[in-house]
Amino acid sequence: MQRPFNFSAGPATIAPEVLAQAAAEMLDWPDANGVRSGMGVMEMSHRGKEFQSIYTQAEADLRELLAVPAHFKILFMQGGGLAENAIVPLNLGGMRATPGFQGTADFVVTGSWSEKSQKEARKYCQVNIAASNQADGHTHIPEAASWRLSDHASYVHLCTNETINGLEYHSLPDLAALGSSAPLVIDFSSHVASRPVDWSRVGLAFAGAQKNLGPAGLTIVVVREDLLGHALAVCPSAFDYKVVADNQSMYNTPPTYAIYMAGLIFQWLKRQGGVQAMEARNIAKAALLYDAIDTSGFYLNTVHQDCRSRMNVPFFLRDESRNDAFLAGAKAAGLLQLKGHKSVGGMRASIYNAMPLEGVQALVNYMREFERLHA
Ligand SMILES: *Cc1c(COP(=O)(O)O)cnc(C)c1O
Repeated sequence: MQRPFNFSAGPATIAPEVLAQAAAEMLDWPDANGVRSGMGVMEMSHRGKEFQSIYTQAEADLRELLAVPAHFKILFMQGGGLAENAIVPLNLGGMRATPGFQGTADFVVTGSWSEKSQKEARKYCQVNIAASNQADGHTHIPEAASWRLSDHASYVHLCTNETINGLEYHSLPDLAALGSSAPLVIDFSSHVASRPVDWSRVGLAFAGAQKNLGPAGLTIVVVREDLLGHALAVCPSAFDYKVVADNQSMYNTPPTYAIYMAGLIFQWLKRQGGVQAMEARNIAKAALLYDAIDTSGFYLNTVHQDCRSRMNVPFFLRDESRNDAFLAGAKAAGLLQLKGHKSVGGMRASIYNAMPLEGVQALVNYMREFERLHA
């Protein structure tokens, strides 16, 4: 069955073979040797040997896929990216603070998500906006050399792929070279596993799973061990990274089914050739779509070329009165969920790992045909 191509920003498309495997295993999960458990994954105790094997495999596969070094913990949490906006300062916001004073976190604001993150952090620590691209409508990433970093920041926060605005860091800053010894925190929710990560520059990374790693309800946190054990006294135990790490993410019941689904996606990613192979495909997909936009006088993307997202491509019809017709035609052509975020308008094509090149080609063909009929 050829399904329509789904360009949702999240929850987002999942490879059909992954969904088919989950369907086949829904009522009676078999282990790697085909031995039937007699129960579905949702019905298993998180402490039983069946789920433990699912968990252990998922963690090992993610560590391998993202090449996470041994001195980082991988945590499977809940609450999504938005909860992490609070959980990060609750854990790190007191680090390196002058005794008796709140710590300060540095934020580089590049779009809606980093803006939300800095607002939430203000409940728990001081916030310094080291740089912002608000004035230019979130279309470029401020040059790292221009960031005004604090002397003793608890951490520096970046959103490395701005899902709504369509900006992506194509390399991570070397904070030490910029004069900061603070750990770098990255919100990589919407491009996790789409490209390799330089862990030598990262202290903590978090991602909601529902963009590139499976269903909503699971949050991945990758945290350097020296950042554990610094939580503020008010931090809920279930959100204290050290408590979560010490209990292998089972201090409370983890989102077992979402972990299982993410695990199937990790296996799928490995069969595709891993993150490097995905990156090569993602580059090709993004190039195809941006090229179609840039070479037409009908469509427009305003993000600077050097920081355009490979995952989320917002674009506008120059004649916005045709938006509804564009979306209706797209749907009829089997191209779903292309409407832009309400804060930006226009269109947005999210082309995560599970979107095949043929999906992007189909979109580009549709865009050309729509332009031919309406230009
Ligand atoms: C989707 C997203 C989030 C929010 O995730 P929730 O799971 O809805 O809390 C946070 N950051 C980025 C960059 C995202 O794309």
